[in-house]
Amino acid sequence: MSDARPVVVVGGSVAGAVCALQLAQSGVPSIVLDQHGGAVDKVCGEGLQPVGRELLGGLLPDLDELGRTFDGFEFRFPGLPPLGWSFPGSIRGLGIDRKRLGEALRAALAARPEIDFRPGVALRSLERSTSPAEGWRLELGASELHARIVIGADGVRSGVRTGAGLADGARRGRWGLRCRYRAAPPDRVRIHFGAGVEIYLTPLADGLTSVAILGSEERLRSLDASAVDALLGESGIRPEGPCVSPPQLLPHIGPSVSGPAAHGVFLCGDAALVLDPISGAGMTLAAITGALAAESATTIVRGESLRSATARFVRTSGRATRPYRALTSFLLLLARSERARWCAERLFRRHPDWLAWCARPTFRALALSTSDA
Ligand SMILES: Cc1cc2nc3c(=O)[nH]c(=O)nc-3n(C[C@H](O)[C@H](O)[C@H](O)COP(=O)(O)OP(=O)(O)OC[C@H]3O[C@@H](n4cnc5c(N)ncnc54)[C@H](O)[C@@H]3O)c2cc1C
Repeated sequence: MSDARPVVVVGGSVAGAVCALQLAQSGVPSIVLDQHGGAVDKVCGEGLQPVGRELLGGLLPDLDELGRTFDGFEFRFPGLPPLGWSFPGSIRGLGIDRKRLGEALRAALAARPEIDFRPGVALRSLERSTSPAEGWRLELGASELHARIVIGADGVRSGVRTGAGLADGARRGRWGLRCRYRAAPPDRVRIHFGAGVEIYLTPLADGLTSVAILGSEERLRSLDASAVDALLGESGIRPEGPCVSPPQLLPHIGPSVSGPAAHGVFLCGDAALVLDPISGAGMTLAAITGALAAESATTIVRGESLRSATARFVRTSGRATRPYRALTSFLLLLARSERARWCAERLFRRHPDWLAWCARPTFRALALSTSDA
């Protein structure tokens, strides 16, 4: 069977859903494939940063009802006072249960007549068609599709990226573990550094806190529920209630990416950038790059050349992701170097606005009034 819609989106999670929903708003029809028949409770710190909240909120009007807002970040380094800052003005992030977010995104995809959403359909392989007019051939097992534009929103182990020759081989990344506790949620996302891991506490709902731990495979594999309790205790975290969703593990590991687009393939979200989750920006970046991919696909469908739309996508997605990449490198430095933490803490004591100033570029895309900023 063959189908010739101009745009196929592979992946119906954050990046793919944002892309397809934005295409639909521009009147561009698409096919969205997702290998899972239903929403997945993905291992994630579950903190959506303000720009991500704004972008997703524009597509899901009831977004805030799915979670709980937070008003900033706080770092806890062993032996040092807490370092924290609040978002300016009325800006807030959102702690959000990944399964509920996935369900809401899938419902939104299924509701749009411009979107042919196909849950439970996996891409098996991708190759360029022999006829340039047909673009790409997507092999789906029993059937195939042809599309001029393919959006790779298929996550950290992206098959679209491999098929399009955009993976450069060198693998990088770490493992993550997530559980949830019955505990009073913090007002800020709290990140505890130390013991060879970073621990994230994110508010999800009244009496419910998400706990995510980042570390090496060996370290995290050794953590069952009681070992997680003990690790939290060692880090000074004492949830009032029990763990209500058992620890789940996930490797966040993928190859470096040689470029985010080529010959009508546009990568977004984790498929485009295997970024360490330490900055808690993955969903936000997925939303930003999904929206940029939709913009490029729309202009191509309306007549712009592949070459100029691709060049613009490479430029704009590089610019939009830069502040988050910088923040990630900075946080990794803090995680790895005691000296860097010592310097950061002293600098912060002298200039309490310093952290907020560092994080400011990550809000630049928001429509802020000058007084808010
Ligand atoms: C421990 C940990 C903590 C994190 N904490 C945070 C945080 O606090 N805040 C934050 O914003 N981000 C966080 N992240 C990162 C965040 O989870 C990801 O960046 C985000 O989910 C990326 O979204 P995506 O849509 O690109 O990919 P994904 O959410 O991975 O979705 C990819 C989709 O593609 C589908 N798919 C894959 N292969 C195929 C195929 N062959 N055919 C069809 N469909 C396919 C999958 O089923 C899936 O639905 C964390 C990650 C980890 C591991």
